[in-house]
Amino acid sequence: MIYREFDGCRLSLLGFGCMRFAPDPATGEIDQEKVNAMFDLAIREGVNYFDTAYPYLGGKSETAMAEALSSYPRESYYLADKFPGHSLTHPIDNIALFHVSLRKCRTDYFDFYLLHNITEWSVKYYESREYHILPDLLQMKKEGKIRRLGFSFHGGPDFLEDFLTRHEGVFDFVQIQLNYLDWTLQDAKRKYEIITSRGLGVWVMEPCRGGKLASLPEEAAGKLRSLEKERGSGPLSDASYAFRFLQSLPGVKVILSGMNEVFQVEDNLRTFRKEWPLSEEEREALMDIAETLKKGVPCTGCRYCCDGCPAGLDIPYLLQCYNDYAFAATMPPSMRIDALEEEKRPAACISCGQCAHACPQGIDVPSVLKKLSEMYEKGPHWEEMVRIRQKAISRDLGEK
Ligand code: SF4
Ligand code: SF4
Repeated sequence: MIYREFDGCRLSLLGFGCMRFAPDPATGEIDQEKVNAMFDLAIREGVNYFDTAYPYLGGKSETAMAEALSSYPRESYYLADKFPGHSLTHPIDNIALFHVSLRKCRTDYFDFYLLHNITEWSVKYYESREYHILPDLLQMKKEGKIRRLGFSFHGGPDFLEDFLTRHEGVFDFVQIQLNYLDWTLQDAKRKYEIITSRGLGVWVMEPCRGGKLASLPEEAAGKLRSLEKERGSGPLSDASYAFRFLQSLPGVKVILSGMNEVFQVEDNLRTFRKEWPLSEEEREALMDIAETLKKGVPCTGCRYCCDGCPAGLDIPYLLQCYNDYAFAATMPPSMRIDALEEEKRPAACISCGQCAHACPQGIDVPSVLKKLSEMYEKGPHWEEMVRIRQKAISRDLGEK
C-alpha cells in the first residue's frame, strides 16, 4: 500500500468511501456481509482510512461502517465523518448532532471531521452566527473529539480562495472533486494549487467522476488498450489510470473510492500496492481522452463578456453550472444556481447577444443560458432536497 504522511498520520493513499454500499436484493437493506468482506480485504492490504457522512445512504452508512470496523482496534484506522450544515433549514443543537454521529460510529473521536459540502449556497449557513456551526466544531476540536478539521468543497476556485482567506488557520485539509477530467473541466488544477499553496492537505473525492472514468466509451478506452499493446502489457482497468493520475500529485494525501463490490476493492488494491507513475505517453493520452469526454462549452473564464451584460449576470459561473449539467453531474447543479438571487439566475438573460459578440471562444451564450434555465426548471431543486434532509436531522435530534 502506498502511504502518505500528514500531520503525524501515516495515511493509506487509498481511502474507503462509504457512500455507495450496495443493498441486499432480498431485503433492500445494506448488505452488511458484503461490507464486512470488503473492509476485511482492504484492511488486510493496508487501507487505514474510512470516510462517511451523516446523510450518506439515508443515515445508514455510519452504522454499517461502524459494524464492519467493530472487530478492529480503534487506533488501527483513521475515521472521517462530516457535519451536514448544507442540509439545515434552521439552527439546531450542533453538538447534539455531532454526538449522534459519534454514537452511530461507535467512537468517541474523529481523526478527521469535515464541514460537508461547502458551496456558494451552503456557506451562508456555515458562516452564520445564528447557526453557530464553526464555533461549536472548534469547541469539539479543543476537547479532542475532532483531531483535524477540514471541509468538502463543490464551489468554484475564486470562492475557495476567498473562503480559505476568511478562515485562515482554521482548517487542516480540503476535500475536492479531482480527476483527470475535472483537472481542466472544473478547474480542479487551480483548486489543488490554492489548497497546497496554503500548506493544507488535498483529499480527493470522485476520482473516477461517479464511475464515468472507470468505464470509458469504446473509442477512449481503445487509446489506452493501444498503449498497452505497444508496450506488451495486459489490459489494465480504466479506473487504474484515473487513480495513477492522482498518485502523481504530491499534495494529495487521501484518494477516496466509493467501493461497493469486492472486485473493485481488489482492482484498487492492485493499483495502490506501490507507486506506479504514469508515463508521459499515458498522461498525454488521458488528457486527450478528457477533451473527447467533455460536453458543454469551452468557456475559459476570461470574463470579457461580463462588463457589458445589462442583466449583470456572472456568465462564466453560469456556464460552469451548464457544463456540470451537460456531463452527468455528481452533485445537483441546482445547488449552485439556488445560491444566486433570482435576478442573477439564467432566466434573467434578455438575449441581447452582447456577450456572444465579446466572447473569443465564439460561445452562443444566450442559447446556452436558455438551455440551462430549462434544465434548472425541471429540477430537482436543492432547496427542496434540503427540506427533506432537515426532517431526518430533526427526527434524530428528537425535535418536535
Ligand atoms: S445575452 Fe444574456 S447573458 Fe448575454 S449579455 Fe445579454 S443579458 Fe447578459
Ligand atoms: S467571454 Fe466567453 S470564454 Fe470568456 S468568460 Fe465569457 S463566455 Fe467564457
